Parts: sequence; structure tokens; C-alpha cells
Amino acid sequence: MTVALPLTIREAVLALSNTPDARLIQGGTDMMVEVNFNHLKPNNIIALRRIQELRTWQKNADGTVTIGAGVPYQEMESGELKQLVPALAEAARTVGSPQIRAAGTLGGNLGTCSPAGDGLPVLFALDAVVHLQSHEALRQISIHEFMLGVKRNARNANEIITAVTIPLLNGWQGYAKVGVRNAMVISVASACLAIDKSTNSVRIGLGAVGPTIIRCRDAESWLSQQFDFSSTTGIDGAVAKEFGRRVTLESKPIDDHRSTAEYRRHAVGVLAQRLITRAYPS
Ligand SMILES: Cc1cc2nc3c(=O)[nH]c(=O)nc-3n(C[C@H](O)[C@H](O)[C@H](O)COP(=O)(O)OP(=O)(O)OC[C@H]3O[C@@H](n4cnc5c(N)ncnc54)[C@H](O)[C@@H]3O)c2cc1C
Repeated sequence: MTVALPLTIREAVLALSNTPDARLIQGGTDMMVEVNFNHLKPNNIIALRRIQELRTWQKNADGTVTIGAGVPYQEMESGELKQLVPALAEAARTVGSPQIRAAGTLGGNLGTCSPAGDGLPVLFALDAVVHLQSHEALRQISIHEFMLGVKRNARNANEIITAVTIPLLNGWQGYAKVGVRNAMVISVASACLAIDKSTNSVRIGLGAVGPTIIRCRDAESWLSQQFDFSSTTGIDGAVAKEFGRRVTLESKPIDDHRSTAEYRRHAVGVLAQRLITRAYPS
């Protein structure tokens, strides 16, 4: 096995164009599991960990934040990133253990593209944009077009995910997940809810209840007609419950080794109801 250790994105995309069969590795918290179980035996690896450009983030003048694909979860959990994108901080805090969060990244979550990935419902709820770079070109693609199915995405084989850009919203946002225990657990069902006061709207993205992350457009528009998101009063319990029920209708869960479709459907409804109640407590 050969391992390339580029120091810049330019070197990495050049290495990828010279060795098209190479596997990219960032934190390795997904990829090394595959290697250790002999599910994957790459001949060539391109390790991205030494590329500082991938490990930085910046707040942009247009009201967005751009987070490098190699920024580890532990950096999102606290500090300024937490203030800017609280839902991402909450999601990051639920990923694995401190060791996993020190190594694991959004780039790797997007690379794997599991519907249970904790970063992804946040990116869907916030309408993030994914940056991809090849030896020849740079392109940006909406997260809604990037994730194509279970562990399938729109990245071309010669491209590296370099960053995501997330709009900064004015309003409450949060993330919650259900697993078989409280920590070190892959989601059985998850949800990210974000309020955008500038458009008086709510967004909700569901994880682990469909082949891709699901945005509940019908439930979002229903709630927008029932509730004024600039309100300082709490949400009516019956409205929150009905919102949860409508979210449930848009989920498309399956039975698998982690849970049943029936439980997942119930769980996302409860998560949606709880998140909107956390946003507007009585
Ligand atoms: C014990 C344990 C617990 C875990 N718990 C959780 C959890 O609670 N929630 C959760 O969501 N995940 C969890 N995971 C999975 C994993 O930590 C996350 O998916 C993490 O985001 C992967 O990031 P990484 O940088 O380690 O990716 P890597 O393992 O380095 O890469 C993952 C995939 O993405 C590709 N890739 C990586 N970087 C790029 C890039 N820049 N451009 C293109 N492709 C790229 C790789 O080729 C590979 O296919 C857990 C894993 C373990 C081992």
C-alpha cells in the first residue's frame, strides 16, 4: 500500500488525478473500520490530515461560515463556531467519543454519506453548500443535490471535498438524536430544527429515516402558517404535537439491525415536537 501525504489541496488533487484508484483518508474513523474488517484493501491512499487549508474555517462577509472538510468535530463543539452554528455544535457533541471527535470530520461524514451521519441533518436544515475540487476545476453544489442515497453522493472520483458553506440564521436551532444508549451510538433517528426569523420560517432535516436526509417541506410550511417565529411566547402544545405528527408522515424509515421502521417513525415525531418546544418553551 502506498500512502501519499500532500501538504496542500493542490498537491492532493494532483495526487488523485495521478492515482485515480486512491482512497482519501481524513480522520480515518470510518475508513479504518472498513480496512480493519477487510472490507476495503486500497492499494493507494491519499492522507489529507496534513493539509492545513482543510483544517481552517472562516466567517464570511455575506452572512455565511465556511468550514474546511478537515476541521474535527471537537472544534465545532465549543467556542465561536458553537455561537455561529449551535445546531452543528449539538450534533458534533453527539458523535462517538472524545477520541472520535478529535479525529472525525464533516468531510468524512459527507464522504461516507450515511443517512445516520450526525452532521448531515444539520447541513440539510441549514441549506449548506459543498465545495469540491479536482485537478481541473472547483465547483459548489447544494447539499440537497450532493447526497444521492445510502452512502452515495455526487462527488466525482477525481474530486476532493474541501469545505462546506453554511448560511448563518437569525433564530433558534438545535439537534437531537435517539440511539440504543446515551453515548457512543449511531443514530436510530435524528433531527435538526432551525428557525429563520428573517423569512419567518422553520426548517427540519431528519436523519436515519430514509435513504437520504429528509427535509420535511410540508410540515415546515404547515407550521409557518400556524406560528409567528418572531414570537416571544411559547408554542401551543397541540400545535407542537401536530407538527411532530406531520413530520412523521414525511419520514421513510426501514427495519434494520438497529431498529424498526415503526419505532423510527414514532421517534422522529417526538424529536420534532421536542425541538420546537425547546425553541419556544411555554
Ligand atoms: C467508534 C465510532 C463511533 C462513531 N460514532 C459516530 C456518531 O455518533 N455519529 C456519526 O455521524 N458518525 C460516527 N462515526 C463515524 C465517523 O466518525 C464519522 O462519519 C466521521 O465524520 C468520519 O470522518 P473522518 O474524517 O474520520 O472520515 P474518514 O474515515 O477519513 O473518511 C470517511 C470517508 O470519506 C472519504 N473522505 C474523507 N475526507 C474526504 C474529503 N475531504 N473529500 C472526499 N472524500 C473524503 C473517505 O475516502 C472515506 O470514504 C463513528 C465511528 C466510530 C469508529
